[in-house]
Amino acid sequence: MDKRVLLQKFVAYAPYVDTGLLEKAYDYSVKAHAEQARASGEDYFVHCLAVASSLLEWKMDLPTVAAGLLHDVIEDTSVTPEKLRLAFGEEIMRLVVSLTKLDRVQFSSRDVAQAENWRRMILATAQDIRVIIVKLADRLHNMQTIGFLPQEKQERIAHETISLYAPLAHRLGMFELKGELEDLSFAVLHPEEYLDLEEKVRALLPAREAMLSEFRKMLEHALSKSDLPHRILARSKNLYSIYRKMQRQKKPFEEIQDALGVRLITDSVANCYALLGMLHTHFQPVADTFTDYISNPKLNLYKSLHTTVNGPKGELIEVQIRTEEMHRTAEYGIAAHWRYKTGDTAKDSHLEEKLNWLRQWIEWLQDLDSPREFLDSLKTDLDLYQVFVFTPLGDVKALVQGATPIDFAFAVHTDIGYTCVGAKVNNKMAKLDTELKSGDIVEILTRKNSVPKKDWLKVVKSARARSKIRHWLREKGIAA
Ligand code: MN
Repeated sequence: MDKRVLLQKFVAYAPYVDTGLLEKAYDYSVKAHAEQARASGEDYFVHCLAVASSLLEWKMDLPTVAAGLLHDVIEDTSVTPEKLRLAFGEEIMRLVVSLTKLDRVQFSSRDVAQAENWRRMILATAQDIRVIIVKLADRLHNMQTIGFLPQEKQERIAHETISLYAPLAHRLGMFELKGELEDLSFAVLHPEEYLDLEEKVRALLPAREAMLSEFRKMLEHALSKSDLPHRILARSKNLYSIYRKMQRQKKPFEEIQDALGVRLITDSVANCYALLGMLHTHFQPVADTFTDYISNPKLNLYKSLHTTVNGPKGELIEVQIRTEEMHRTAEYGIAAHWRYKTGDTAKDSHLEEKLNWLRQWIEWLQDLDSPREFLDSLKTDLDLYQVFVFTPLGDVKALVQGATPIDFAFAVHTDIGYTCVGAKVNNKMAKLDTELKSGDIVEILTRKNSVPKKDWLKVVKSARARSKIRHWLREKGIAA
């Protein structure tokens, strides 16, 4: 991709934006990195361009794409924030500064440096979500070219990617990216298992494709009598998720029930349900597999209808039904909402909902004092296994797995947490260390002037509850 192609790609989705700064960022980055090479031996600028290329694919706004081109200039060249401000203005300068790691020599160890850099980046993300999006594009390209680094370094980077960046991408709803980051890390961390699995999956491909085309034919036939707009997409699963499933179920690949995945995309919510009806009329649905993520969207705002049906030969077929817009959100997550500010996004309540949730989470993390504690909490909170618990009024709270009524109380409000004396789970009295499950309805009983107990620290699972309890104990001069 040269400058002309880059500009073309940008203009394709942001036709009315003056691209002057983007051209300038391109030239500036080429010049600043002129003397540098990547571990692969390529010009360093190739990396900057690759990062910008992902950002264009996600249709990010101009300052973000420019920051992608410039993201390493402060860290790796003699360019200063002041110079950037003069050349590109405050907004782009700030993005690049937020993406610049602190110098390792300031820290006692690599771990401390890593923790502190994460903390800075997450806090910068609270101010501007675009920071983490550029960082994810940066990490994607670093993982794609990781083979040129020494083994030990590869493993360290892959480990950080799979434990922090991939779950973060998931949290931001960027599922495609999450799968890619996981598979790239998986290949580094477990090369033999990766190659073995890749080969086995590839060997099954022709049979699966035959089944899929058979199903597609039957479905097209069934749908031909209706005028429901639709397109059918096959869905590939990432290798790491299969590997995880094998480990969870302690079964070899051959015994894993790996259903065929299909997506039906249509134009409206009403037609999603209409397609579901057609599907269930022509193919036997499997009991208890239907989930409606349209009327109950997930916290990362994923929306779709999920169902599993029996295919022509009795094979299981997992079907996801969604609108084009839901599809785009599912593919690109938070980035899908970051279209250039043309006015149509001004009233995007989903974006606000998403950002509020993220900001609130970061705010909780912010209370943690030490970088180490911060990073540990970040990891815990990013854990994919979440439970969704309801207040008696039907508000949903997402908690980490193993969360208790105390965690829930603090998720509702700090004062409710502080004065909590008991809980009802699904209308029955429950102990405060009860493990909550998704769908539980929890009511917290409080008593005025009641105070937190030190023992709660042994019970709570969420960063928020832990930090609030510690904070209270510290204020009262009680050692935690
Ligand atoms: Mn970089």
